[in-house]
Amino acid sequence: MRALLTALAAMFVAGSAGAAPPAQMELWRLDCGTAVVNDLDIFSDTFAYAGKTKRITDSCYLIRHGENYLLWDAGLPGALLGKTVNSGPFTMSLSTRIVDQLARIGVKPEQVTLVGISHRHDDHTGQLTDFAKATLFIGAGDFEAMKKGESAALIAPWTKTGAKLELLTGDKDVFGDGSVVMLATPGHTENHHSLLVRLPKTGPVLLTGDLYHFTENRTTRGVPSFNTSRADTLASMDRFEAIVKRLKAKVVIQHEPDDIAKLPAFPQSAQ
Ligand SMILES: [Zn+2]
Repeated sequence: MRALLTALAAMFVAGSAGAAPPAQMELWRLDCGTAVVNDLDIFSDTFAYAGKTKRITDSCYLIRHGENYLLWDAGLPGALLGKTVNSGPFTMSLSTRIVDQLARIGVKPEQVTLVGISHRHDDHTGQLTDFAKATLFIGAGDFEAMKKGESAALIAPWTKTGAKLELLTGDKDVFGDGSVVMLATPGHTENHHSLLVRLPKTGPVLLTGDLYHFTENRTTRGVPSFNTSRADTLASMDRFEAIVKRLKAKVVIQHEPDDIAKLPAFPQSAQ
């Protein structure tokens, strides 16, 4: 019996020694713009915010997984740099580009070989063409809508010059080890995604995309009037909150100044 146990123990040790260690990971929060919402009521289809305004952030994220880099969302257009532009509901400004922030931590744009986009809106896709050689992960319906609309130029590397593209209708386990997963949370747009990042020290972090735009939007399950589907949005909120509870995840609403402060200020990273 003892011999058998010794043999089993030896097999166990050999097995665990042969397994690859989990990849080293880091998460940086990037400044991808700022906006003042001049009519906050566009974020409610029940007239919850009539007459209100709010300053929101436009954050995007860089994730290192071993030697690989994934950019999550691509911010406001780079042409906005140093400007303030009023589009009616929003007054937008951009004080730094993504590529310039990457340079501060020694990451070249071509090292970012993977780009994940939460959804098709211009405040999440603005600087995409700075990463024209990366593999792009984006919801299939969002990509189709971009092809037909004013944002077509932003995806030209993936429609015209053959950069790699993966169109998603469900979840996407980016590195195949469960550490970074694009979660299908449709409703804000056709195939909107949120991002789960399981960091070794910080633990699970959930980046909302635009499933929510600010804290009160989350607590009241507010649905913006311009969403593609109210029913899908509410179902996505159900799924998202169940995951938050199960994993005890840290939630970061990407447009909420109070939430992005839960992650270290650039150039510090969460690990
Ligand atoms: Zn947005």
